[in-house]
Amino acid sequence: MVDTKSQYLKIKTEIDQAIHGVLDSAAYINGREVQDFAGSLAAYLGVKHVIPCANGTDALQIALMALDLQPGDEVITPSFTYIATTEVVALLRLKPVFVEVDPRTFCMDPESLRKAITPKTRAIVPVHLYGQSAPMEPILAIAGEYGIPVVEDNAQAIGCEYTFSNGTKKKTGTMGTIGTTSFYPSKNLGAYGDGGAIFTNNDVLAGKLKMIANHGQQKRYYHDLVGCNSRLDSVQAAVLNIKLTKLDEYNSARKKAADYYNQAFAAVKQLTVPYVAPCSDHVYHQYTLLLEDIDRDELINHLFTHKIPSVIYYPVPGHRQEMFASFGLPEYRLATTDWLTDRVLSLPVHTEMDEEQLLYITDHVINFINK
Ligand SMILES: *Cc1c(COP(=O)(O)O)cnc(C)c1O
Repeated sequence: MVDTKSQYLKIKTEIDQAIHGVLDSAAYINGREVQDFAGSLAAYLGVKHVIPCANGTDALQIALMALDLQPGDEVITPSFTYIATTEVVALLRLKPVFVEVDPRTFCMDPESLRKAITPKTRAIVPVHLYGQSAPMEPILAIAGEYGIPVVEDNAQAIGCEYTFSNGTKKKTGTMGTIGTTSFYPSKNLGAYGDGGAIFTNNDVLAGKLKMIANHGQQKRYYHDLVGCNSRLDSVQAAVLNIKLTKLDEYNSARKKAADYYNQAFAAVKQLTVPYVAPCSDHVYHQYTLLLEDIDRDELINHLFTHKIPSVIYYPVPGHRQEMFASFGLPEYRLATTDWLTDRVLSLPVHTEMDEEQLLYITDHVINFINK
């Protein structure tokens, strides 16, 4: 699905030098690279504070820990997302409340959100799924009405821009109370190991998030809060410092691949290509098709026999996961989520795709449909 090796080879000299710099400095933890990266990413996103941490799941967990939630408090998330978004809710003994997504954008449906709000709702976690922004203007309006904090799960959309109706543009992850992201190698801004970060414009929250990620301490060995141990290491920060300067270029390369797919599939009535809402950009963390009248398993097999990977993101939505069985959740009827789960298929999309590969993939998809 990705080709991180070819991407590395193009920047090998710079990367190797930066990694060796860390090895020479011996500041493996909290080295200069980590501060440099946090500063550069804050400037890139236009957000006041960036707190690096160990991975995108920790980032979500720390964000929720900073909101002073009590066991049983309700956290609204889409069911149609990667498990990490809801897993941390369950881990903190909060109650996940699943809502629907828009069938065209795959992101949180504001009407479904509004209906799910109760007096116990304490946080809303929209996900910028596949690389497109959730409809933040209506989501923030509803959250504002009820005074509920918003945590944006931006693991899949770093670099994406959202446009408000007054023309203001903001990067995903910087619009809510807190934003989180992941630097897992296959993400749009990927490290060569694990990594994550938390964003906020709120000074008080920033201090708290920093403390929680560091055993709840501000002064060493004085632990004021229950925290955890979640750090971005210096080697990963050194890698990310270099890759951040190329993020826009990388996202453009992904968009170019997506444009090619869109054109090739435009006339294929069994395929719905990704819809991009006018208020959002799309950075194509995934290129996800909706299949109609196609045997999805057979298509996956057909592609596999021609060495083309394709993946269902995600085969089981949150509200159907066994892990929540003991949570006494209501019996959800999320028809759109189930409908999408039965129809989505993601094709390879990354920064190193050339026309030959794209032609090969699209030909095999179309040949299967026309056979
Ligand atoms: C990848 C991802 C995460 C978790 O990130 P990790 O770094 O793997 O912990 C969370 N949410 C979404 C939507 C993701 O895609």
